[in-house]
Amino acid sequence: MSSKTWRPGSWREMPIRQVPDYPDQAALQSMEERLASFPPLVFAGEADRLTARLADAAEGRAFVLQGGDCAESFGDFRADTIRDTFKVLLQMAVVLTFGASLPVVKLGRMAGQFAKPRSSDVEKRGEEVLPSYRGDIVNGPEFTAAARVPDPSRMEFAYLQSAATLNLLRAFATGGFADLHEVHRWNQGFVARSPLAERYQDLAARIDETLRFMAACGMSEAPQVRETEFYTSHEALLLGYEQALTREPSTHRGRHYACSAHFLWIGDRTRQPDGGHVEFLSGVANPIGLKVGPTTSIDDLLRLTERLNPGNKAGRLTLITRMGAGKVETLLPPLLRAIKAEGRKVTWITDPMHGNTVPAGSYKTRSFDAILREVRSFFDVHQAEGTWPGGVHVEMTGSDVTECLGGAHRLTEADLSRSYATACDPRLNAEQSLELAFLVAEELKA
Ligand code: PEP
Ligand code: MN
Repeated sequence: MSSKTWRPGSWREMPIRQVPDYPDQAALQSMEERLASFPPLVFAGEADRLTARLADAAEGRAFVLQGGDCAESFGDFRADTIRDTFKVLLQMAVVLTFGASLPVVKLGRMAGQFAKPRSSDVEKRGEEVLPSYRGDIVNGPEFTAAARVPDPSRMEFAYLQSAATLNLLRAFATGGFADLHEVHRWNQGFVARSPLAERYQDLAARIDETLRFMAACGMSEAPQVRETEFYTSHEALLLGYEQALTREPSTHRGRHYACSAHFLWIGDRTRQPDGGHVEFLSGVANPIGLKVGPTTSIDDLLRLTERLNPGNKAGRLTLITRMGAGKVETLLPPLLRAIKAEGRKVTWITDPMHGNTVPAGSYKTRSFDAILREVRSFFDVHQAEGTWPGGVHVEMTGSDVTECLGGAHRLTEADLSRSYATACDPRLNAEQSLELAFLVAEELKA
């Protein structure tokens, strides 16, 4: 692990950004102590297995699909919501598996994605100024002074919601819901409904044929067909919560695991090499991610890869690039070259969402075209540099929301108000997500 002085709480001695201003520090401390006595949500062995899967994606033997809400919310804590997002992720994964002819590592932004970094500490509406909403684990989204006060008791509900969500995901993953034949049938429904049915028909038909062939070979009951492996992830932002769930398991002496999720990442706003967030994640044994935005210098990136993965272990560090369409071509190649020149083992994945957020009236939105363009440029740049484009990271939901523009159903700005439900950033809806998967699969096949 990183420095000899690392402890689960050593981040507290470093400069840190994006920390909520809790008015009652005693209540905060007692909540952190309470959480520290609760059971972990994941087992260290699972995190290790994910590291191995991500190592495959670093070395061109697997592809990663990471997706889910920008922010999960207490108000939308329902089985249907969890089921529908999981379902769309599985549908996307089948298409991508076929496109890449490789295993797809499925990683939800689910069961713990509650804390949000904000560009401003305050939100203004007309004359009124209130503290910004920082995710349901910190304060409430309602624009009232009372809702915006950071409340430590929210951490307990976030833990409980994460536990219940993870429980349902585990049940879905192994209980028969994730059967490949079923997932393929859902995809056929998507293709039939799509205005671009003809374009997607071919790929769907080839998957169909493959499944029939596998059935004929007697493989329908194989666990690889009946079950799936699914992992959880979120941004490691609220470090008091993360520390409380960090454990040194009896099975893994000498190693600390952040047990709130399998995979944690550092956001673009909190990646200071000497900052608290980097310190905390440098010492946990989980696979971790780092968002790499347009202001990341080569120097910073090399320092961060050294600090976060000093052993240069494949699968330990995933770099999630989020440059923005039109910028990838110039900003990404120097970073790829520097990492390659230093012999650094990393998994590269693209987040085509966060560099493409634009205002539309009172909403924030993203266009499907810009998202697709960033993904395509990511593939092109990796191909030109001889590196492996290891996966995609998307903000999406299984619900029929109208938050991003475009897609085959051609959502326009006028449609946004119909079903704009996100607690934070705009997400691809079910149809847009599947469409993206089909288009990325074409790209991978090419
Ligand atoms: C996010 O993933 O929701 C996020 C805030 O991303 P970034 O840190 O890349 O801005
Ligand atoms: Mn977001």
